[in-house]
Amino acid sequence: MAVFTLLAIFLAATKLSAAGYCDADNEETYSYHGSRNGPRQWPRLFTDCNGNKQSPIDIKTSNVKRDRHLKQLSFFGYDRAVRRADILNDGHTVMITPGDNVKRGITIQGRDYNLLQLHFHWGSEKNPGAEHTLNRRRFEMEAHFVHISSDNRIAVVGVLVQMVNKDNQAFKPIVRVLSDVLYKDESRRLRSSLNLNQLLPESPGSYYRYTGSLTTPMCAEGVAWFVLQSKQTIGQNQLNSFLKVYSVEKEDRSSDCLLAPNNRPIQNLNGRAIYASP
Ligand SMILES: [Zn+2]
Repeated sequence: MAVFTLLAIFLAATKLSAAGYCDADNEETYSYHGSRNGPRQWPRLFTDCNGNKQSPIDIKTSNVKRDRHLKQLSFFGYDRAVRRADILNDGHTVMITPGDNVKRGITIQGRDYNLLQLHFHWGSEKNPGAEHTLNRRRFEMEAHFVHISSDNRIAVVGVLVQMVNKDNQAFKPIVRVLSDVLYKDESRRLRSSLNLNQLLPESPGSYYRYTGSLTTPMCAEGVAWFVLQSKQTIGQNQLNSFLKVYSVEKEDRSSDCLLAPNNRPIQNLNGRAIYASP
Protein backbone atom coordinates (compact mmCIF):
# COMPACT_ATOMS: atom_id res chain seq x y z
CA MET A 1 0.00 0.00 0.00
CA ALA A 2 2.76 2.42 1.01
CA VAL A 3 4.61 1.61 -2.20
CA PHE A 4 1.55 2.48 -4.28
CA THR A 5 1.09 5.73 -2.34
CA LEU A 6 4.73 6.66 -2.89
CA LEU A 7 4.46 5.79 -6.57
CA ALA A 8 1.32 7.92 -6.89
CA ILE A 9 3.07 10.89 -5.23
CA PHE A 10 6.12 10.42 -7.45
CA LEU A 11 3.99 10.35 -10.61
CA ALA A 12 2.01 13.42 -9.52
CA ALA A 13 5.21 15.30 -8.75
CA THR A 14 6.73 14.40 -12.13
CA LYS A 15 3.63 15.60 -13.91
CA LEU A 16 3.59 18.86 -11.94
CA SER A 17 7.17 19.67 -12.77
CA ALA A 18 6.54 19.02 -16.46
CA ALA A 19 3.41 21.16 -16.71
CA GLY A 20 3.89 24.66 -18.08
CA TYR A 21 7.22 23.88 -19.69
CA CYS A 22 7.67 23.44 -23.35
CA ASP A 23 10.42 20.92 -24.03
CA ALA A 24 11.14 22.41 -27.44
CA ASP A 25 11.67 25.85 -25.80
CA ASN A 26 14.63 24.35 -23.97
CA GLU A 27 16.31 23.64 -27.31
CA GLU A 28 16.46 27.38 -28.03
CA THR A 29 19.35 29.66 -27.05
CA TYR A 30 16.84 31.48 -24.87
CA SER A 31 13.13 31.29 -24.16
CA TYR A 32 10.45 32.77 -21.95
CA HIS A 33 9.25 29.51 -20.46
CA GLY A 34 12.09 27.02 -20.52
CA SER A 35 13.42 25.74 -17.21
CA ARG A 36 16.99 25.88 -18.52
CA ASN A 37 16.90 29.07 -20.58
CA GLY A 38 14.02 31.23 -19.27
CA PRO A 39 14.48 34.89 -18.20
CA ARG A 40 15.81 33.96 -14.75
CA GLN A 41 18.65 32.06 -16.44
CA TRP A 42 19.54 34.82 -18.93
CA PRO A 43 21.99 36.66 -16.60
CA ARG A 44 23.88 33.38 -16.19
CA LEU A 45 23.80 32.50 -19.91
CA PHE A 46 24.42 35.95 -21.41
CA THR A 47 26.85 38.31 -19.66
CA ASP A 48 25.16 41.55 -20.71
CA CYS A 49 21.80 40.42 -19.28
CA ASN A 50 23.53 40.67 -15.91
CA GLY A 51 24.28 44.39 -16.41
CA ASN A 52 22.99 47.15 -14.14
CA LYS A 53 21.21 49.21 -16.83
CA GLN A 54 18.72 46.63 -18.03
CA SER A 55 15.19 46.85 -19.41
CA PRO A 56 12.27 46.74 -18.91
CA ILE A 57 11.66 48.76 -15.74
CA ASP A 58 8.76 50.00 -13.69
CA ILE A 59 8.08 53.68 -14.35
CA LYS A 60 7.07 55.23 -11.07
CA THR A 61 5.52 58.50 -12.13
CA SER A 62 6.07 60.20 -8.75
CA ASN A 63 9.82 59.64 -9.26
CA VAL A 64 10.21 60.78 -12.87
CA LYS A 65 12.02 64.03 -13.52
CA ARG A 66 9.65 66.38 -15.34
CA ASP A 67 11.67 68.46 -17.74
CA ARG A 68 9.73 71.19 -19.53
CA HIS A 69 12.71 71.80 -21.82
CA LEU A 70 12.51 68.29 -23.28
CA LYS A 71 11.35 68.39 -26.88
CA GLN A 72 8.42 66.35 -28.15
CA LEU A 73 9.51 63.16 -29.89
CA SER A 74 9.74 63.83 -33.61
CA PHE A 75 8.74 61.09 -36.05
CA PHE A 76 9.46 61.16 -39.79
CA GLY A 77 7.89 58.94 -42.47
CA TYR A 78 5.44 57.37 -40.03
CA ASP A 79 2.70 59.20 -41.96
CA ARG A 80 3.49 57.21 -45.10
CA ALA A 81 1.61 53.89 -45.17
CA VAL A 82 3.83 50.79 -45.27
CA ARG A 83 2.79 49.20 -48.57
CA ARG A 84 5.22 46.32 -48.43
CA ALA A 85 6.24 44.55 -45.23
CA ASP A 86 6.99 41.05 -44.01
CA ILE A 87 5.82 39.53 -40.76
CA LEU A 88 7.93 36.81 -39.12
CA ASN A 89 7.36 34.50 -36.16
CA ASP A 90 10.93 34.09 -34.86
CA GLY A 91 9.85 31.92 -31.92
CA HIS A 92 10.15 34.84 -29.47
CA THR A 93 7.80 37.42 -31.01
CA VAL A 94 6.06 38.39 -34.23
CA MET A 95 8.11 41.03 -36.03
CA ILE A 96 7.18 43.30 -38.90
CA THR A 97 9.92 44.59 -41.18
CA PRO A 98 8.97 47.29 -43.69
CA GLY A 99 10.42 46.61 -47.12
CA ASP A 100 9.27 49.59 -49.15
CA ASN A 101 12.46 51.68 -48.87
CA VAL A 102 10.62 54.66 -47.34
CA LYS A 103 12.72 56.46 -44.73
CA ARG A 104 10.91 56.31 -41.41
CA GLY A 105 12.19 57.00 -37.95
CA ILE A 106 12.67 59.43 -35.11
CA THR A 107 15.00 62.39 -34.65
CA ILE A 108 16.72 62.82 -31.28
CA GLN A 109 18.89 65.89 -30.71
CA GLY A 110 19.44 66.33 -34.43
CA ARG A 111 20.37 62.68 -35.04
CA ASP A 112 18.15 60.47 -37.22
CA TYR A 113 17.34 56.94 -36.06
CA ASN A 114 15.82 54.80 -38.81
CA LEU A 115 13.06 52.29 -38.16
CA LEU A 116 14.33 48.72 -38.48
CA GLN A 117 11.32 46.71 -37.34
CA LEU A 118 8.44 46.61 -34.93
CA HIS A 119 7.37 43.70 -32.75
CA PHE A 120 5.14 42.88 -29.81
CA HIS A 121 5.19 41.50 -26.27
CA TRP A 122 1.93 40.14 -24.94
CA GLY A 123 0.36 38.00 -22.25
CA SER A 124 -3.30 37.24 -21.86
CA GLU A 125 -6.43 38.80 -20.45
CA LYS A 126 -5.61 37.38 -17.02
CA ASN A 127 -1.84 37.76 -17.18
CA PRO A 128 -1.04 41.01 -18.98
CA GLY A 129 2.22 40.87 -20.93
CA ALA A 130 3.53 44.40 -21.49
CA GLU A 131 7.20 44.76 -20.53
CA HIS A 132 7.34 48.23 -18.93
CA THR A 133 4.94 48.82 -16.07
CA LEU A 134 3.50 52.16 -15.03
CA ASN A 135 3.31 52.52 -11.24
CA ARG A 136 3.42 48.70 -11.18
CA ARG A 137 0.41 48.47 -13.45
CA ARG A 138 0.97 46.11 -16.33
CA PHE A 139 -0.97 46.52 -19.57
CA GLU A 140 -1.94 43.61 -21.81
CA MET A 141 0.59 44.29 -24.57
CA GLU A 142 3.57 46.41 -25.60
CA ALA A 143 4.68 47.36 -29.10
CA HIS A 144 8.36 48.09 -29.74
CA PHE A 145 9.44 50.26 -32.66
CA VAL A 146 13.18 49.58 -32.98
CA HIS A 147 15.37 52.29 -34.57
CA ILE A 148 19.08 52.53 -35.35
CA SER A 149 21.27 55.53 -36.20
CA SER A 150 24.00 55.58 -38.84
CA ASP A 151 26.55 55.12 -36.04
CA ASN A 152 24.68 52.07 -34.68
CA ARG A 153 22.96 53.65 -31.68
CA ILE A 154 19.64 52.06 -30.84
CA ALA A 155 16.47 53.89 -29.83
CA VAL A 156 13.25 52.03 -29.06
CA VAL A 157 9.78 53.56 -28.85
CA GLY A 158 7.60 51.51 -26.51
CA VAL A 159 3.82 51.72 -26.76
CA LEU A 160 1.71 50.31 -23.93
CA VAL A 161 -1.43 48.65 -25.24
CA GLN A 162 -4.60 48.19 -23.22
CA MET A 163 -7.20 45.56 -24.07
CA VAL A 164 -10.69 46.90 -24.77
CA ASN A 165 -13.87 45.38 -26.23
CA LYS A 166 -13.74 47.25 -29.50
CA ASP A 167 -11.35 46.23 -32.28
CA ASN A 168 -8.65 48.74 -33.18
CA GLN A 169 -8.53 49.28 -36.97
CA ALA A 170 -4.79 49.99 -36.80
CA PHE A 171 -4.07 46.35 -35.82
CA LYS A 172 -6.19 44.83 -38.61
CA PRO A 173 -3.43 44.38 -41.23
CA ILE A 174 -1.36 42.53 -38.60
CA VAL A 175 -4.10 40.43 -37.00
CA ARG A 176 -5.34 39.17 -40.37
CA VAL A 177 -2.00 37.52 -41.16
CA LEU A 178 -1.26 36.10 -37.68
CA SER A 179 -2.87 32.79 -38.62
CA ASP A 180 -0.26 32.50 -41.41
CA VAL A 181 2.65 32.79 -38.96
CA LEU A 182 1.37 30.59 -36.14
CA TYR A 183 4.60 28.62 -35.98
CA LYS A 184 8.26 29.48 -35.55
CA ASP A 185 10.16 30.53 -38.70
CA GLU A 186 6.96 31.17 -40.66
CA SER A 187 6.97 34.43 -42.57
CA ARG A 188 4.42 36.19 -44.80
CA ARG A 189 3.99 39.40 -46.72
CA LEU A 190 1.33 41.67 -45.17
CA ARG A 191 -1.79 41.61 -47.34
CA SER A 192 -2.84 45.21 -46.68
CA SER A 193 -0.89 48.37 -46.07
CA LEU A 194 0.02 49.29 -42.53
CA ASN A 195 -0.48 52.78 -41.14
CA LEU A 196 2.22 53.30 -38.50
CA ASN A 197 0.81 56.66 -37.42
CA GLN A 198 -2.41 54.88 -36.50
CA LEU A 199 -0.47 52.25 -34.54
CA LEU A 200 0.98 55.03 -32.38
CA PRO A 201 -1.31 56.39 -29.67
CA GLU A 202 -2.64 59.93 -29.64
CA SER A 203 -0.02 62.57 -28.76
CA PRO A 204 2.95 60.27 -29.52
CA GLY A 205 5.33 63.16 -28.83
CA SER A 206 5.06 62.80 -25.04
CA TYR A 207 7.23 60.13 -23.45
CA TYR A 208 9.19 58.75 -20.52
CA ARG A 209 12.86 58.53 -21.40
CA TYR A 210 15.62 56.50 -19.77
CA THR A 211 18.73 54.55 -20.78
CA GLY A 212 18.38 50.79 -20.74
CA SER A 213 18.94 47.67 -22.80
CA LEU A 214 17.38 45.38 -25.33
CA THR A 215 14.86 43.22 -23.44
CA THR A 216 16.00 40.01 -25.16
CA PRO A 217 19.44 38.36 -25.14
CA MET A 218 22.06 39.51 -25.72
CA CYS A 219 20.52 42.36 -23.62
CA ALA A 220 22.91 44.98 -25.07
CA GLU A 221 22.90 48.19 -23.03
CA GLY A 222 23.07 51.82 -24.21
CA VAL A 223 19.56 51.71 -25.66
CA ALA A 224 17.63 55.01 -25.59
CA TRP A 225 14.12 54.17 -24.44
CA PHE A 226 11.07 56.30 -25.16
CA VAL A 227 8.00 54.80 -23.52
CA LEU A 228 5.08 56.85 -24.76
CA GLN A 229 2.86 58.41 -22.11
CA SER A 230 -0.38 57.81 -24.06
CA LYS A 231 -1.70 54.26 -24.40
CA GLN A 232 -2.91 52.41 -27.45
CA THR A 233 -5.80 49.94 -27.42
CA ILE A 234 -6.37 46.50 -28.91
CA GLY A 235 -9.68 44.62 -29.15
CA GLN A 236 -10.13 41.53 -27.02
CA ASN A 237 -10.69 39.40 -30.14
CA GLN A 238 -7.57 40.84 -31.73
CA LEU A 239 -5.49 40.02 -28.64
CA ASN A 240 -6.93 36.50 -28.73
CA SER A 241 -5.41 36.05 -32.20
CA PHE A 242 -1.97 36.79 -30.72
CA LEU A 243 -2.62 34.23 -27.98
CA LYS A 244 -2.83 31.43 -30.56
CA VAL A 245 0.71 31.96 -31.83
CA TYR A 246 3.28 29.24 -30.98
CA SER A 247 6.94 29.61 -30.03
CA VAL A 248 7.85 26.38 -31.85
CA GLU A 249 7.71 24.77 -35.25
CA LYS A 250 4.51 23.04 -36.29
CA GLU A 251 5.68 19.51 -35.48
CA ASP A 252 6.53 20.53 -31.87
CA ARG A 253 3.26 22.29 -31.11
CA SER A 254 1.57 21.59 -27.79
CA SER A 255 -0.48 23.70 -25.41
CA ASP A 256 2.69 24.40 -23.42
CA CYS A 257 4.48 25.81 -26.45
CA LEU A 258 2.47 28.98 -27.04
CA LEU A 259 4.51 32.14 -27.52
CA ALA A 260 2.71 34.14 -24.82
CA PRO A 261 3.72 35.41 -22.40
CA ASN A 262 6.86 36.84 -24.00
CA ASN A 263 7.68 39.66 -21.60
CA ARG A 264 10.89 39.90 -19.59
CA PRO A 265 10.39 40.60 -15.85
CA ILE A 266 11.01 44.09 -14.47
CA GLN A 267 14.70 44.93 -13.92
CA ASN A 268 16.24 47.06 -11.16
CA LEU A 269 16.53 50.77 -11.88
CA ASN A 270 19.89 50.93 -10.02
CA GLY A 271 19.74 54.69 -9.58
CA ARG A 272 18.95 55.55 -13.19
CA ALA A 273 16.89 58.67 -13.83
CA ILE A 274 13.65 58.59 -15.81
CA TYR A 275 12.74 61.86 -17.54
CA ALA A 276 9.27 62.86 -18.61
CA SER A 277 8.61 65.21 -21.49
CA PRO A 278 5.82 67.77 -21.16
ZN1 LIG B 1 10.75 44.13 -27.64
